[in-house]
Amino acid sequence: MDDPRTQEIADNLADVRSRIDRACLAAGRDPSEITLVVVTKTFPADDVARLADLGVRDVGENRDQEAAGKAADTAGRGLRWHFIGQLQTNKAASVARYADVVHSVDRVELVQALEKGAAKAGRSLDCLVQVSLDPDAPAGRGGASADEVKDVAAAIDDAPHLRLRGVMGVAPLGADPAPAFDRLADSLAMLRGIYPDLDVMSAGMSDDLDEAVMAGATHLRVGSSILGSRASRG
Ligand SMILES: *Cc1c(COP(=O)(O)O)cnc(C)c1O
Repeated sequence: MDDPRTQEIADNLADVRSRIDRACLAAGRDPSEITLVVVTKTFPADDVARLADLGVRDVGENRDQEAAGKAADTAGRGLRWHFIGQLQTNKAASVARYADVVHSVDRVELVQALEKGAAKAGRSLDCLVQVSLDPDAPAGRGGASADEVKDVAAAIDDAPHLRLRGVMGVAPLGADPAPAFDRLADSLAMLRGIYPDLDVMSAGMSDDLDEAVMAGATHLRVGSSILGSRASRG
């Protein structure tokens, strides 16, 4: 490998994969149950192409405009695009054109906008209900509250172009992630009582992936441990 940036990313990927293997060993889980989503936000399409060359299939982004551009720039590489950020209703149709999985579905109004966009694009999207794991968060910011989760799930389940797959959560800043991820696992178990096929729990980032694996996460969203710090990149 001549390109030093590709080498750097390859080394970081190997480190993260061995962290995941160790976390699985500690949790008594099989690493094949885990999908690593590499979060490429703020990094250029060239890095996305490097990841594809290194065998990464799942990439995540949190802003529509940035994601749409990178998805177009790397079209034909067989990547699956995960939209993981807060999504405004008026961006839903754009996201529906390139995203394969939307992790951050947290209100019925957004479900309707995604359904409309997916129908128009002739696509079908996997959707996760983003559950608020921060009891102190203001309503409507990053995740459905415990009493909204069922309604959002039902709306997704009713939408012909959307497939309800599970739940997603972000551990609250400055708090122990383990109990937060346990609450997310409880939400998934509750929804499975209604929709037994649900199989996705998206939880865990660079700093808390071990706790997420322990709590049963199936999808980890890892950015900085693989691509480097975003601090200087805004
Ligand atoms: C940025 C982001 C991540 C990745 O975070 P790192 O700490 O860089 O691993 C994961 N999930 C969401 C929702 C994000 O916005």
